[in-house]
Amino acid sequence: MANVYEIAILGRVTWSLHSLSNEGTVGNVTEPRTVVLADGRKTDGISGEMLKHIHAMNMWALESNKNAFCEVCKYLKPERADGNRSVRQKTRPDEAAKEAISTCRLCDVHGFLVQKPTVARESTVEFGWSVGIPDVKRDIHVHARQSVHVVYVEEEIEAGKWEGKKCAVRDCDTKEEESKLSRVGNKWYCDKHIPTPQMLYHRPTRSGVYAVISVFQPWRIGLNNVNFDYEVNDRKSRYQLALKAYQAMFLRTEGAMTTTRHPHTENFEGVIVVSKVNYPVPVISPLKDDYVQQIEKIKTIIGNNNVEVKKFNSLAEFAQEINELLNDEPYRLQI
Ligand SMILES: [Zn+2]
Ligand SMILES: [Zn+2]
Repeated sequence: MANVYEIAILGRVTWSLHSLSNEGTVGNVTEPRTVVLADGRKTDGISGEMLKHIHAMNMWALESNKNAFCEVCKYLKPERADGNRSVRQKTRPDEAAKEAISTCRLCDVHGFLVQKPTVARESTVEFGWSVGIPDVKRDIHVHARQSVHVVYVEEEIEAGKWEGKKCAVRDCDTKEEESKLSRVGNKWYCDKHIPTPQMLYHRPTRSGVYAVISVFQPWRIGLNNVNFDYEVNDRKSRYQLALKAYQAMFLRTEGAMTTTRHPHTENFEGVIVVSKVNYPVPVISPLKDDYVQQIEKIKTIIGNNNVEVKKFNSLAEFAQEINELLNDEPYRLQI
């Protein structure tokens, strides 16, 4: 059994045919996220916000007693402690932080921002962008969905006889002589833009190997960041819950569009770096091919007794390494 100060998860995950994070939808086309790396290369990315959200959802799901959360997090509302009445009733920031931390494991681990009294808690779990190790293969799939609306064309005007009428679609560049105009309801449409009973959606899917980085700070679990008191007696089970959420999120990654674009997770390999003394856990990007060798070299420099590097070559090995960490204790500051 060891004391765990911080944990870094550095790895490469292979996700095929997923659609986990998107820029947003433009018309009926959903754009994948693009990020730019230090050397100028553009690649595909899944935001840290998305991954942090997935982790929080798993923490909630894996806790069988939902009373371990505040009245806000119990119902998965995003405000966290800021929506918790018993926190807002406090007048001093340290009391508000104590109330938020002691009443809710999710507020404790994932952080919050309470406006009155003003108190901010940084999350104890951090995620970077997951970035495609070039090249991620991208594809757009057209998905047809039957509309419930039947389109009635109530009136038609022949090509060349529009007489000042126009297609209702903004920036339509269909020329008068190319198309008839059809009236649906009180709007006119050219042949290209006439609503059809079948709606077409353009959905991107991507396949690739993604570099994942995350840092978890067990030493801060239950620690009031205003007065530096540890406020809870169940730090270990909070630590275990956060670790199990990591395990679950890679064993089954739920995110954007997973109802119809559930990712094919093919592999996960990398290292779990564990800092056992009060030294920030070193992080190096799995974008670098030699990141494992680098982290092992760093470990010998910092001291083999201070840092542990646990290698994993598959999802199963990752799950096993997380299981072993469950036996350890979250580091406690001597204050
Ligand atoms: Zn909460
Ligand atoms: Zn048009």
